[in-house]
Amino acid sequence: MIDGTIKLAPYAATDQTSRGRLHTEEDPEYRSCYQRDRDRIIHASAFRRLEYKTQVFVNHEGDMFRTRLTHSLEVAQIARTIARALHLNEDLAEAISLAHDLGHTPFGHAGQDALNTCMKPYGGFEHNLQSLRIVDVLEEKYADFDGLNLTFETREGILKHCKKDKAKELGELGQRFLKGEQASLEGQLINIADTIAYNNHDVDDGLRSGLITEEQLRETELFDPHYCYVTKNWPDLDKKRQIHETIRRMINELTVDLVTTSAASIEAANPQHIDDVRHNSEPLIMFSEKLRIKNLEMKRFLRDHLYQHYKVHRMTVRADRIVKGLFEAFIKDPLLLPHVKDQRKQLRDEDEQQLARRVADYVAGMTDRYAIEEYERL
Ligand code: MG
Repeated sequence: MIDGTIKLAPYAATDQTSRGRLHTEEDPEYRSCYQRDRDRIIHASAFRRLEYKTQVFVNHEGDMFRTRLTHSLEVAQIARTIARALHLNEDLAEAISLAHDLGHTPFGHAGQDALNTCMKPYGGFEHNLQSLRIVDVLEEKYADFDGLNLTFETREGILKHCKKDKAKELGELGQRFLKGEQASLEGQLINIADTIAYNNHDVDDGLRSGLITEEQLRETELFDPHYCYVTKNWPDLDKKRQIHETIRRMINELTVDLVTTSAASIEAANPQHIDDVRHNSEPLIMFSEKLRIKNLEMKRFLRDHLYQHYKVHRMTVRADRIVKGLFEAFIKDPLLLPHVKDQRKQLRDEDEQQLARRVADYVAGMTDRYAIEEYERL
């Protein structure tokens, strides 16, 4: 039985071992430093906008589908379970989960691909780096600093991957990509909690949308046994409940396997401190080989049958046109960007590189419907 007052493992992230914030601040009175990070993320405007950003289905296609916000909450739910079971820092796991997708453009991956194409001559665009940029620079809320001034550990967890040339520009935070080191265990587990969350909710949304069917899903080793169990034991259950009963079992199977396998790999590596985790040559949070393959098979199934479905693809084409159209309009006439009067000269004088990044920040920050409206206006 696990209760809420469980003692943290010696290799969990703690306030005492934190590498701190970019700008020094007094510690909060009744919260840990990671609780404060989580609270700042929840109060960020980029976080609120996740409600109106596409996960797979464009936000206004239906109120029943996941958005980036509900996706992030589901990641946090799974991540907290894993963190608590492994005696890791649940507050940190939650903070990273809630922030991990802040940098996504409108229209999901289609939007990111379009913006990346536009930004190719100016250093590219990548949603993961953009999430970091939002919490480090773009949120303008605090008197003493730009961004949210989060702890190193939350920022480390947000940055799940990074190319070497970009890593060089990121100081201490980029070091692990140059040295082949790992993130904290809390950071590592978010990556997998993310895949558990989206594989499962995309099955749910995919079935609800009618773009995929139970018969197709039965080809997968993750879905079939649970679906058979549910339909055999409750043959008269309505379809909605059958699906939910199947999916909750899939999430449970993946999560339990992840906790059990990771607990064993942590025990074998025997880290005594968070830095031992970072210096380990391989990640310690992992599925068993069997579940890794099942999860991968599901990922491929969704790619082939859902993400590449012609109805989803149509949205991709439209997103591409909107994002590229907006980018070009703002680059051609920077004064179309929202600005205060005394910024006119600054906008005109900005070099191309700075201007392109400013435009990318603005377009990336748009919600789906705002991007559509703005495109129509321009
Ligand atoms: Mg995600």
